[in-house]
Amino acid sequence: MFRKMSDDVRVVKVFRDGTRRVHHDHTVDGEWDTKRKGTDVFGRVIYWMANPELPEEIECVMCGETYTSDDLKELDDMGEHYHREEGCFLCPDCWDNFQRLPLEEQTKIAITNGWKEVQHED
Ligand SMILES: [Zn+2]
Repeated sequence: MFRKMSDDVRVVKVFRDGTRRVHHDHTVDGEWDTKRKGTDVFGRVIYWMANPELPEEIECVMCGETYTSDDLKELDDMGEHYHREEGCFLCPDCWDNFQRLPLEEQTKIAITNGWKEVQHED
């Protein structure tokens, strides 16, 4: 039998003895899993909220390293140069390497990745 399960969310449960705890729970066919298992033992969900969003991550198209928006802010603060445009990101190292490549190579990479601008003004 097919059951529709939701993602886990943060919930506050109250237990039989009155204690409240923060937990994770999900629904199965629209009903809290806790309720299905038995609120006496597993507690009753009295409040829930969506999980906090993961910070946005961006992946360098050349080395595959991921950076969060916080990392990028840090790079900005340190005055590091990187390349970012829609659908494309180059980390400082790769951007540095890229700029050392012969123009022909740069153009090839730019075309492969569909970049709008190749030259970057610092
Ligand atoms: Zn990189």
